[in-house]
Amino acid sequence: MSHLNYETRLPLGQATIDHFMGLPAHPTKCQATYVWIDGTGEHLRAKTRTINTKPQYLSEYPIWNYDGSSTGQADGLNSDRYLRPVAVFPDPFLGGLNVLVMCDTLDHEMKPTATNHRQMCAELMKKVSDQQPWFGMEQEYLIVDRDEHPLGWPKHGYPAPQGKYYCGIGADRAFGREVVETHYRACLHAGITIFGSNAEVTPGQWEFQIGTCLGIEMGDQLWMARYILHRVAEQFGVCVSLDPKPRVTMGDWNGAGCHTNFSTIDMRRPDGLETIIAAMEGLKKTHSEAMKVYDPNGGHDNLRRLTGRHETSQADQFSWGIANRACSVRIPRQVADEGRGYLEDRRPSSNCDPYLVTAMIVKSVLIN
Ligand code: ADP
Ligand code: MN
Ligand code: MN
Ligand code: MN
Ligand code: MN
Repeated sequence: MSHLNYETRLPLGQATIDHFMGLPAHPTKCQATYVWIDGTGEHLRAKTRTINTKPQYLSEYPIWNYDGSSTGQADGLNSDRYLRPVAVFPDPFLGGLNVLVMCDTLDHEMKPTATNHRQMCAELMKKVSDQQPWFGMEQEYLIVDRDEHPLGWPKHGYPAPQGKYYCGIGADRAFGREVVETHYRACLHAGITIFGSNAEVTPGQWEFQIGTCLGIEMGDQLWMARYILHRVAEQFGVCVSLDPKPRVTMGDWNGAGCHTNFSTIDMRRPDGLETIIAAMEGLKKTHSEAMKVYDPNGGHDNLRRLTGRHETSQADQFSWGIANRACSVRIPRQVADEGRGYLEDRRPSSNCDPYLVTAMIVKSVLIN
């Protein structure tokens, strides 16, 4: 695998790394990397501990703590916050018995912190479990260097206009495929339900899809897939931007979303299309409420992206259509043809919290 940006790597010899990482693993101990959402509601943090015997079940992973005053989740005088394990994945970076542990965060009274929307989401998913809510999320992102300059873009001026990059092949149109391929394999190793990946419309922009996932698993898996992506990029000396419209792309370039596909058991039945169309009423009713939680900044991030141009709808209007990519919600052509399937909510921003988005969809369609 080539280095995308070699000068940003530490000058350690690969042979040295290989020596230590290749030493026989400890027979029983494992390294558990606890991953959590910080006070931005957008960025992840992680720290690692040894567990003497690799647990068999989630419930055997201990609750842990961290300094919430350093993550925007507490003040210094009362800084301890708790990490509660909610999902465990084989660690594709360390391999062996080692694991990645997705956690939600609790305050000193064991109540969810301000950016912990998982507990609320999990309760909601339990309530509607008889409807078997399935989700699939399409995570778009831009690969950038540490100065936030998109990969493959000239340092001065702009690349050739968009048109040739979407699903593009070749060194003049696909930038950072090493990151994409490595991430894909790493997700498979971790047991994440990765559906696919493709190069996107803007140069340096890519997408992976997670799904289908049942209920709360959607959020757990997408957050962990994001963690893996940031870590893979780190190893190549590049970064991943989930900003829906990075400043450098403000001209005639597509922004980044996180389309959220959704179905219930009724929508998947032979005459499911009726249920899918009926769901539009509920989605329309909650439009302004939804727009506030479809990005981590109260809807402000999405205002830059949902302009009605570049395959988006307008932020202030709800619309739906069949095979229409300028709508808030799209019914894919194939779903309309088959008369059953799922709908695609195109409004969530690339930096959305999937716990908030999936909860909002369930609330709109199944609770109201
Ligand atoms: P697009 O045509 O919008 O680019 P993609 O191929 O990128 O679509 O993604 C399709 C997504 O739809 C995947 O995440 C997949 O898991 C999801 N999906 C497929 N069938 C269903 C279903 N019945 N319910 C919910 N999600 C689904
Ligand atoms: Mn310390
Ligand atoms: Mn897609
Ligand atoms: Mn896309
Ligand atoms: Mn889509």
